[in-house]
Amino acid sequence: TAQLIDGKAIAARVRQQVGLQVRDRRAAGARVPGLAVILVGEDAASAVYVRNKHRACEEAGIKSLKYQLPVATSQAELEALVDELNDDARIDGILVQLPLPAHLDSRPILERILPHKDVDGFHPYNLGRLAQRLPMLRPCTPKGVMTLLEESGLDVRGLDATVVGASNIVGRPMALELMLAGCTTTVCHRFTRNLESHVRRAELLVVAVGKPGLVKGEWVRDGAIVIDVGINREDDGRLIGDIEFAPAVERASWITPVPGGVGPMTVASLLENTLIAAERHDAMASGIQPV
Ligand code: NAD
Repeated sequence: TAQLIDGKAIAARVRQQVGLQVRDRRAAGARVPGLAVILVGEDAASAVYVRNKHRACEEAGIKSLKYQLPVATSQAELEALVDELNDDARIDGILVQLPLPAHLDSRPILERILPHKDVDGFHPYNLGRLAQRLPMLRPCTPKGVMTLLEESGLDVRGLDATVVGASNIVGRPMALELMLAGCTTTVCHRFTRNLESHVRRAELLVVAVGKPGLVKGEWVRDGAIVIDVGINREDDGRLIGDIEFAPAVERASWITPVPGGVGPMTVASLLENTLIAAERHDAMASGIQPV
């Protein structure tokens, strides 16, 4: 039976660690790190995420400024706000909560955020840095998965890893993180012909698709490390992942539950990124050139 990877506990430790570092910064006379969170429209799930991020920031001593814009906000208005925040010396990190309303194009918005303020790590510069093994601000969810592995004392170098899902925000950066960590990495997506065969080979399996039960528990290799990023809401309101949990637990050596596995790590990584951005911001302000 697998050992559970307790994401809730690990995320709490990371958040506490960030809080201590923020406190030390202040004691040394540095600014309180500032995060700007932009939410356009009234999407209920997004509002919950933004609230969670805000609360986590405040607990860690990070100033979180919320910009709630009406659903009718134009592309130009949103871009103007990003420009303003880019120029604001109190702001270290800028986050645009996705998805944006359908009339807005997220791509030019994300590319407008200064790369060193891009705490979500979605700017092509930051993804390119990760691809070239010089990560700067790393996408939060895959970074959180790497923290889970490290904090569980798991050495992944040389493992055969399979990532199921290839989105810009999870699957792709996840594959880059695992390559950087020394895994031999396979990426599966909607056109993959024999998903089962790729899952069966995996010593480390990460699934991020958003389809409950997509990965059968019997496919899990004996002793595999299993990370389920999927979050799916059942009719009865319960949250479940993409992997059949009960049979997977029997075969895996380590496994993340849903909820309480990867989920809490995303916000923890966001706090880490905001602190990194603040340190870098200070260094740039004192004349040290960014890489
Ligand atoms: P997405 O819809 O953008 O991407 C899904 C990916 O799955 C695509 O690359 C697609 O090609 C692939 N896919 C679809 N059907 C497949 C199939 N049958 N076999 C193999 N691959 C298939 O989703 P996303 O934004 O990457 O999110 C994925 C899941 O992770 C969702 O459940 C989401 O809620 C969850 N998520 C969780 C966190 C967190 O824990 N904090 C963060 C982000 C996303």
